[in-house]
Amino acid sequence: MTRSDTLFEQAKKTIPGGVNSPVRAFNGVGGSPRFIEKADGAYIYDADGKAYIDYVGSWGPMILGHNHPKIREAVLKAVENGLSFGAPTELEVTMAEKVIEMVPSMEQVRMVSSGTEATMSAIRLARGFTSRDKILKFEGCYHGHADCLLVKAGSGALTLGQPSSPGIPEDFAKHTLTATYNNLESVKELFEQYPEEISCIILEPVAGNMNCIPPVEGFLEGLRAICDQYGALMIIDEVMTGFRVSKSGAQGHYGVTPDLTTLGKVIGGGMPVGAFGGRKDVMQFIAPTGPVYQAGTLSGNPIAMSAGLAQMDALCEEGVYEELAAKTKRIAEGFKAAANKHGIPMSINYVGGMFGFFFTEQEKVTSFEQVTKCDADKFPIFYHGMLDEGVYLAPSAYEAGFLSMAHGEKELEETLAAAERVFAKMAK
Ligand code: PMP
Repeated sequence: MTRSDTLFEQAKKTIPGGVNSPVRAFNGVGGSPRFIEKADGAYIYDADGKAYIDYVGSWGPMILGHNHPKIREAVLKAVENGLSFGAPTELEVTMAEKVIEMVPSMEQVRMVSSGTEATMSAIRLARGFTSRDKILKFEGCYHGHADCLLVKAGSGALTLGQPSSPGIPEDFAKHTLTATYNNLESVKELFEQYPEEISCIILEPVAGNMNCIPPVEGFLEGLRAICDQYGALMIIDEVMTGFRVSKSGAQGHYGVTPDLTTLGKVIGGGMPVGAFGGRKDVMQFIAPTGPVYQAGTLSGNPIAMSAGLAQMDALCEEGVYEELAAKTKRIAEGFKAAANKHGIPMSINYVGGMFGFFFTEQEKVTSFEQVTKCDADKFPIFYHGMLDEGVYLAPSAYEAGFLSMAHGEKELEETLAAAERVFAKMAK
């Protein structure tokens, strides 16, 4: 028994499933999750002292690598002044200005404490602003665990085979319409059916919770046009893609302007942070300027703001996104080449600092349906092979992978050499 095994058994007695968020339990791959003791740069270290090159990065925020000195120092400095005030601070103003500078479609922004809160609040705002009840989301996209969004959801819901959760009254769920990602026709049909009832479309601009599916050409523009035609708001959920796909998120990368944007993960530098923002006339509709209520005791927490600002400043340095994209390409292309060399069919997708790989003969995976047709047996074998080699990937075939600036030549080379060995074994 490893220390992780022991801790997992102990954890299951007091924590449901032994974890505080489902995908961590390794349901998608089997076996005990690794309990992590510390992390530094591109590496995480488990409770048994084993080091892993990490491609999860706390599910995205560790874009500079773990325990980055600039973030650590900013946090330690902020701690000296106290942990929480429940009153406005200059740090929050600086954060708002920074976010708006980086993502120009956001004219105003409000901070929250998680991605779930960001999407939940943005949807309430869209409903309040348009006086319409229905929302439209895409099958396989995950936007956190608010009631209206846990319908045909991705991520852990998909990994556990429960894309629509019990506990959500049918009366709530009926207002959530689901369309097919990368299929504009499916969206048009729903708008033709409910032309004056849909308040907003919410989408992941690169779907990262059903593996990694970039938008096909014209998809984002088409959604923008449909929203304009029917008076619905377009909410781009950049909780995963924000400051990862490019400096201005996926919206900057693809050149599309939403009405509202949700952010999370990266703007907290590893602290619990989310944000939503967008058109000023819409944002003015929330309390205290408007009637839509939204609040949070720890929103804009000074320690979280300090960590996030330090991270964003470092991300604004010259060449960061070019380097991140080049490393990501190298890993994704390297996985494919190594798999193919051993006769294992693989398809890959990557954008900016996120990537996905699929065990499939399909040349390009662009839809949820195609994701479900991939070889479900190969992923856990590859996963555990890589884990044994000291490479930590997301423990589910429905999650995207993330690179960080701390992944250097050595780590990339070692990862690809490990993949080569694992594929060689799988081919036997
Ligand atoms: N939106 C997207 C696109 C996400 O990927 C996630 C989390 N992975 C969320 C929302 C929810 O964020 P959180 O887990 O911080 O609530």
